[in-house]
Amino acid sequence: MQTYSGPISSLIEEFSKLPGVGKKTAQRLAFHVINMNMIDVEKLSEALINAKKQIKYCSVCCNITDSSKCNICSNPNRTEDTICVVEDPRDVAAMEKTKEFMGKYHVLHGVISPMEGVGPEMIKIKELLQRLNNETVKEIILATNPTIEGEATAMYISRLIKPLGIKVTRIAHGLPVGGDLEYADEVTISKALEGRREI
Ligand SMILES: [Zn+2]
Repeated sequence: MQTYSGPISSLIEEFSKLPGVGKKTAQRLAFHVINMNMIDVEKLSEALINAKKQIKYCSVCCNITDSSKCNICSNPNRTEDTICVVEDPRDVAAMEKTKEFMGKYHVLHGVISPMEGVGPEMIKIKELLQRLNNETVKEIILATNPTIEGEATAMYISRLIKPLGIKVTRIAHGLPVGGDLEYADEVTISKALEGRREI
């Protein structure tokens, strides 16, 4: 691969630090930026800096927001008694798209992963437990991903919360719509079976 020097090489290097961006894509992006007009480049750099400066965690649910309380936490029409626990702010967006859930969220910002050195104290579990002291929460829905780490994190949280007398549920994971039973792996099928309901 051809090497570049100076500003273009540092731009390539910065792009290649982004998730999912390999060396080739980083090069393509860097040359794209060079060919952009100055106004667009300034807009891009401003957007990057503003997002980083202004986005913070909601003081209640730890979702990302630009004010001290996010839109969902400050919405009086959302019920206080159910909290859906997710891994990532993107999961909140995904759940919101369904328009099915009218409770509140809690964003963990990760999952417990001994392999990657992530312990329970490194994600927002403590903040979740604090909420249970002063809110009238009746149910916690654990909506972490159906991965080994996601399942382990759900189990860990469930063990902490159940003794408080709060109902703890886990979202059903199963076959994707349009999926074919024949091609599903056994974990997916057993989860689908586990999460079955009466029709
Ligand atoms: Zn919030």
